[in-house]
Amino acid sequence: KKPPTRKGSLIDVPESLKEKVDQLHTLFWVTPEKLKSITTHFVSELEKGLSKAGGNIPMIPGWVFEYPTGKEKGDYLAIDLGGTNLRVCLIKLGGDRTFDTIQSKFALPKDIRTTESENLWDFIAVSLRDFLHEEFPEGSVHKLPLGFTFSYPATQTALNHGVLQRWTKGYDIKGVEGHDVVPMLQKALDKYDLPIEVTALINDTTGTLVASAYTDPETQMGLIFGTGCNGAYFEKVNRIPKLEGKLCDDVDLEGLMAINCEYGAFDNEHKVLPRTKYDVIIDEESPRPGQQAFEKMISGYYLGEVMRLVLLDLYADGFIFKNQDISKLNEAYILDTSFPAKIEEDPFENLSDTNELIQTLLGIKTTKPERHLIRKLAEFVGERSSRLSVCGIAALAKKRGLTECHAAADGSVYNKYPNFKERAANALNDIFDWNLPADKHPIKIVAAEDGSGAGAAIIAALAENRLAKGLS
Ligand code: BGC
Ligand code: MG
Repeated sequence: KKPPTRKGSLIDVPESLKEKVDQLHTLFWVTPEKLKSITTHFVSELEKGLSKAGGNIPMIPGWVFEYPTGKEKGDYLAIDLGGTNLRVCLIKLGGDRTFDTIQSKFALPKDIRTTESENLWDFIAVSLRDFLHEEFPEGSVHKLPLGFTFSYPATQTALNHGVLQRWTKGYDIKGVEGHDVVPMLQKALDKYDLPIEVTALINDTTGTLVASAYTDPETQMGLIFGTGCNGAYFEKVNRIPKLEGKLCDDVDLEGLMAINCEYGAFDNEHKVLPRTKYDVIIDEESPRPGQQAFEKMISGYYLGEVMRLVLLDLYADGFIFKNQDISKLNEAYILDTSFPAKIEEDPFENLSDTNELIQTLLGIKTTKPERHLIRKLAEFVGERSSRLSVCGIAALAKKRGLTECHAAADGSVYNKYPNFKERAANALNDIFDWNLPADKHPIKIVAAEDGSGAGAAIIAALAENRLAKGLS
């Protein structure tokens, strides 16, 4: 089925390339019917992940048992190990649904994705040491509680515990998978004699959920559309069969538990997602083939790479870059998400930024028709990402029977990728048969509060409060 023609559309593409553009559009366009069938399958996969037998989607219990009341109060440290930075924060929770953040960013060493385990923990410890020197020049009188945002699938049997299942987003540090990351970090902190205790390990989505619920009680989901993709929500404890027999007696079975879905793993069996040959190549050449099927089609870590692979094909078929040196284009991951993003931001008429960008990054000169083709390709790749992305939101809403809520979103793709929000809203209209402007959507995507900073702090505070009440 042909995708609809929309603004800035094929009229602007030269006759000679129109057919190719059309083909690419069809390849990357996800129809409303397809979005619906993906969502339906997604709901049953979420359910399966909660069962005793388990499924593809990990659905990891997050050991956060309640919505914040908004009255949580106190000073907490939080760290967030991201794709390019380590962020260290001191969060002052006001106890009145407000908070203040003091933060520093430490650029991760370039080779961090493949370094030795020890180097990673050491880097974090040294960064924390420097941060404490700044913020507490006199030293701290008591041990500071730390919430560690670790944005990878980690199995938790308690809040201050998390065994890494597998690295994602191109990380491949040996000796961490299969191990609890909390003692690893704690050991490095102790080595430097830092007055810090890791009291909570938190997924970025769970942090986002809780931070947003702290300021906005209508929040029902925390979502990341960034380098990776994922979502968290609160599930009823008695609807998580796989927790049976694993809970302490004091847990209220009628109560709630935050679930870190890890739905980047959706459709690892390749049953419904409209994969192209480019998605297959990305998967096969990744450090963890067979994993994160959904994430590999939509998240920021991969969008530039999809572009690159299509460009290589267009070159091989004689459509672009004739007689030019494409050695740089042959380099895997040379194009990050900023590549398609910048191209989409460039005014369509001349695409002069695009011209410069391709020249600088790839050493390739482009003609105007070539740039128009590349621009359309960037749109298609970005559009596919945003349309598929909302299937996770729709599935969570259907699973929980939510008809009205706020879905709090964060991440570089959500915040910075041009047109992501509009396209996501259109896709929600398609899935739910609404015909509404985004701000009238009953299930509304809203910008999240800082999950990996404030969220981590609030969760650490919730944990302290439970402990103070003698609860597990
Ligand atoms: C990780 C998740 C994380 C998401 C967004 C995925 O690759 O597996 O734990 O929430 O990226 O950062
Ligand atoms: Mg992050």
